[in-house]
Amino acid sequence: MPEAIHLDDYRRVVPPQTIDLLRRLAGRVRGRSLLHVNSTRVGGGVAEMLSRYVPLFEELGVPVRWDVISGAEEFFRVTKSLHNALQGQEQAFTAEMLAAYLETNRENAARLHLDSDVVIIHDPQPAALIVFTRRPASAGTGREGGRWIWRCHIDASRPQRRAWAFLRQFVTRYDGAIFSLPEFAQQLPIPQYLIHPSIDPLSEKNRDLTAEEVAAALDRLGVPRDKPILLQVSRFDRFKDPVGVINAYRLVKKHDDCRLVLAGGPADDDPEGAQVLAEVMAAAQGDADIHILVLPPAAHYEVNALQRAASIIVQKSTREGFGLTVAEGMWKGKPVIGGHAGGITEQIIEGVTGYTVTSVEGCAYRVRYLLHNPALASQMGHHGREYVRERFLITRDLAEHLALMVTLLHA
Ligand code: UDP
Repeated sequence: MPEAIHLDDYRRVVPPQTIDLLRRLAGRVRGRSLLHVNSTRVGGGVAEMLSRYVPLFEELGVPVRWDVISGAEEFFRVTKSLHNALQGQEQAFTAEMLAAYLETNRENAARLHLDSDVVIIHDPQPAALIVFTRRPASAGTGREGGRWIWRCHIDASRPQRRAWAFLRQFVTRYDGAIFSLPEFAQQLPIPQYLIHPSIDPLSEKNRDLTAEEVAAALDRLGVPRDKPILLQVSRFDRFKDPVGVINAYRLVKKHDDCRLVLAGGPADDDPEGAQVLAEVMAAAQGDADIHILVLPPAAHYEVNALQRAASIIVQKSTREGFGLTVAEGMWKGKPVIGGHAGGITEQIIEGVTGYTVTSVEGCAYRVRYLLHNPALASQMGHHGREYVRERFLITRDLAEHLALMVTLLHA
């Protein structure tokens, strides 16, 4: 990690005036405290973003804390089912499961200091904390206490009704909800805000690397650079469709030589990972050109190098809240082929920065097309980087958070 990054370092990367705007907005909420709560410090896009927000809010004069709820294995099994159900999978919930969810939230509410001016609760896992805090339940009525916002990072376009009804009883107590896409907005009696997630261009995951750094990292990971590399970086989660990526690669491989790298790692709040990884290993068996890399959570540099070494970034999700890996790939000047799902469709401009696909065959077709048209692939990568610069960098995200804080605290 390069030493201490400061806001002014972003001036050379982000659109003009962005930093000045940030400082002006921050001036309106200076000294007002902000708390983020989620369910894991490592693994997945939410932890990735929170780790980047904290030092920048601090520098902007907004005292910020990031707390993580803790829970037993059973709790995370329930919340993973809830997550799957909210993303549209049929799941069964027993009364015991829902009770375990509530009990863990109650314990965490007693343990955590939830007394900041603005409290942002991320995703379903800690959503019920609000029930167990001392703040009055009648949100948005000008009463004492901090302003509470629920931020949803998942693809809530077609939630299983029972799961959403369960979660909704907590969400309606908040002062507002943030969704990543307009399509995820729900029927709610509270204000809903739209904030796209973002990547940090100066983080270890996204900073520029030299060709030598990329080569050294790939050598260490045991991935030769003798053929074009297709890369998907994802938790091992069925919604990310890693087996579908292997099947698409196999179709490509009948005609065009290439390697496939599936890089993933565990997330503390995702108990299904090991099982999905076993399925992926089984699907990849017997092909020395498929590299399944199980990376530690802090392998940001390695992910960065892999994304830079790849010819094509794939993110073949069937459901996706946003998909930071898409923006990460585009930022590295790569064309991205993504599943036609959630935030992926918001990031990929069809035929300009990449393609969205709905099948294994479609994915293979687009991969082959790009492998045969390297000039187009490189032009798409260039467009992708500029699109991310305009829309998906952390500075825009921070400005929207600050604007929301201004609205909540001065309303
Ligand atoms: N990631 C990583 N190592 C892994 C797998 C994922 O660093 O082995 C990172 C990835 O680079 C991205 C984030 O985790 O920054 C995943 O975010 P995304 O929005 O794509 O998916 P989520 O896991 O939140 O569903």
